[in-house]
Amino acid sequence: MTYQKQVSIIEEMQSKGFNVCSCGNCGGIILLNEETKPKMEDDSEGIYCPHCKVEMAYSDCPDYYYEGMPELNKERDSNI
Ligand SMILES: [Zn+2]
Repeated sequence: MTYQKQVSIIEEMQSKGFNVCSCGNCGGIILLNEETKPKMEDDSEGIYCPHCKVEMAYSDCPDYYYEGMPELNKERDSNI
């Protein structure tokens, strides 16, 4: 398994309305679906972390895997 594959899987999930992000406070994994994902246009709506019980803005909870993540870039560099 590669980071490239993980990124492509998470993008497939996002296209179907699911997401996996990490808590900006404790780093725990938070699963989101259409129902629980804050609407992009409304930043006042936050994510309530199940681990540390803190509510944060969606923008403070980065996707667990994403295009441009350092691990992915390192993987690409090593394949040259
Ligand atoms: Zn947390």
